[in-house]
Amino acid sequence: MAKIAINIATGSLQQQEIIVGIDLGTTNSLVAIIHPETKMPIALKEHNSSSLVPSVVHFDAYGNVTVGEAAKNFLLTEPQNTIFSAKRLMGKSYNDIKENTSFFSYKVIDDNTQSLVKVQVGNKFYSPVDLSSFILKELKQRAEHILKTPVNKAVITVPAYFNDAQRQATRDAGKLAGLDVLRIVNEPTAASLAYGLGLHKEEEKTIAVYDLGGGTFDISILKISNGIFEVLSTNGDTYLGGDDIDNSIVKYWLQQAGISEDELKANKEFAQAIRLKAEAAKIHLSNNDHFEGMLNGDKLIITKETLQALIQPMVDKTIASCINALKDAGLKPKDINVVVMVGGSTRVPLVKESISKFFGRPVNDTVNPDEIVALGAAIQADILAGNNKEVLLLDITPLSLGIETMGGLMDVMIPRNSKIPNKASRQYTTYKDGQSGMKISVFQGERDMVKDNRKLAEFNLTGIPGMPAGLPKVEVSFLINADGILVVKAKELRSGVEQTIEVKAQQDLSDEELEKMLLDSITHAKEDIATRALVEARTEGEQLLETTEKFIQKNAAHLTKEELMETAAAMQALQLSITMEDKDLIHTKVETLNDISRPFAERIMDQAISTAMKGKAV
Ligand code: AMP
Repeated sequence: MAKIAINIATGSLQQQEIIVGIDLGTTNSLVAIIHPETKMPIALKEHNSSSLVPSVVHFDAYGNVTVGEAAKNFLLTEPQNTIFSAKRLMGKSYNDIKENTSFFSYKVIDDNTQSLVKVQVGNKFYSPVDLSSFILKELKQRAEHILKTPVNKAVITVPAYFNDAQRQATRDAGKLAGLDVLRIVNEPTAASLAYGLGLHKEEEKTIAVYDLGGGTFDISILKISNGIFEVLSTNGDTYLGGDDIDNSIVKYWLQQAGISEDELKANKEFAQAIRLKAEAAKIHLSNNDHFEGMLNGDKLIITKETLQALIQPMVDKTIASCINALKDAGLKPKDINVVVMVGGSTRVPLVKESISKFFGRPVNDTVNPDEIVALGAAIQADILAGNNKEVLLLDITPLSLGIETMGGLMDVMIPRNSKIPNKASRQYTTYKDGQSGMKISVFQGERDMVKDNRKLAEFNLTGIPGMPAGLPKVEVSFLINADGILVVKAKELRSGVEQTIEVKAQQDLSDEELEKMLLDSITHAKEDIATRALVEARTEGEQLLETTEKFIQKNAAHLTKEELMETAAAMQALQLSITMEDKDLIHTKVETLNDISRPFAERIMDQAISTAMKGKAV
């Protein structure tokens, strides 16, 4: 079964093809793979250069595109033609970003506030998807150059708070760059994978991923259980990061030298030079107590102590976000088992110390915080490729999984081609008064009637306390873990009675059988739909018969002889129609019975109400 799922996921039978992990970042992007010999994740880089590719795209007058370090050089000289932070625009309309337009030094089109934004460069328009695709194309080419092999498949990471539109935009950008995006993975999940978290199915942990990059901050609280990563909450500030530290150092130096901010703005070259010095000072002070540099013959000095005082308000802001994230997850700092550090700015000692103090435990900071997300994406890619034999994170369910409901119908809980691991739950109720048990039969397949599908398991939820029909709330939940083991749980929510069963899903199913099951569902689609309609009509008819029966028993004294006879005749006709194969006939008989019983049902209801009101002061 593992084999089948992986084949469908990768679309090929050969497993040699490389799948890269890509961190498509706001400031920097990079590619990682699992080293074929050491089996360890590594970030790809050319000799003696950085693995980080600045997420900057430059267009020259002829429409030529450059990406990365070379493009970054144009940020100050050609701001109109140099696009940075395209990720902030992904899946956004102008309305979404209008508060922050001053941030973008290039032209973001504002003619239609509702539709997705476009960026204008010269007389050309680019969508954020186009812009991201240029970055991805550059990463793909780099990887191909370094690995000397074509790269066509990738896992790409996105922030946990990205919505569907933003995830889809990221997928589209990959496609446009010539990449088959096998999966979009949450950045905090990738970071956790890089520490080996979530790779053992017994593991149950609550993780805080603190990500402070160049321009953004986010905190995510994750829970791993049964190999499934669940995002419990996220919080953060999309305009807070290392750039703010650099700016605060610049401000400090300007103050010391008595230079106004307007003077700085007027001299772009000086502004850029001092900002670079500030970043160098910040990085130096992550390992030293004192910084001294020269700019235009002037000395620039700052101590670690001063820097810490400048940074403190920013750190406090991130802690406020952590508090909110924990609150949303319903947790306390002590409930967190692991704290993972992501983003270059977490190298600042004050950040590390403060976060470690807040959570009351040492933080995980041994993996390079710039590369960690891409490394995790590479691990995920390797799992998808089927190379990581220890973990079998199956990609998708080859067939739908569901339970039998009234009339032998298949009620699908997890549809075919759903991602694994996965979970789903739905509520059911009883249809008989005082019903104390409920049979849960688990099936796999695409047909509408369970009799045409494969039965995987069956169990009884017993001990439901006596209640009128329709009152118990039985929640049935399906959980497929990373090993493809399906755990089915049924729980009556009012009483807490529950039962669990473990099923080895899809066991013993050959490729041929799987194919036949899929084919059958297509060839029988029409008759299946007809059968489902008939069964649903029958169920409705039977339920109406039952409630009418109960009503008559209880209220016979209030009904006329004619009413009783008329009702009995209509019930008989409905009963008879149920035995036949005509759903329309059943619907007609249901209607007739309803028409007959409605007037007296309403009359009796009114009587009951007025009796109840009697003697009460209104
Ligand atoms: P990222 O967006 O994750 O690539 O993070 C980039 C940010 O990390 C930039 O603001 C860098 O200046 C900052 N950064 C990188 N190295 C260090 C360091 N050693 N100390 C402090 N900040 C750093």
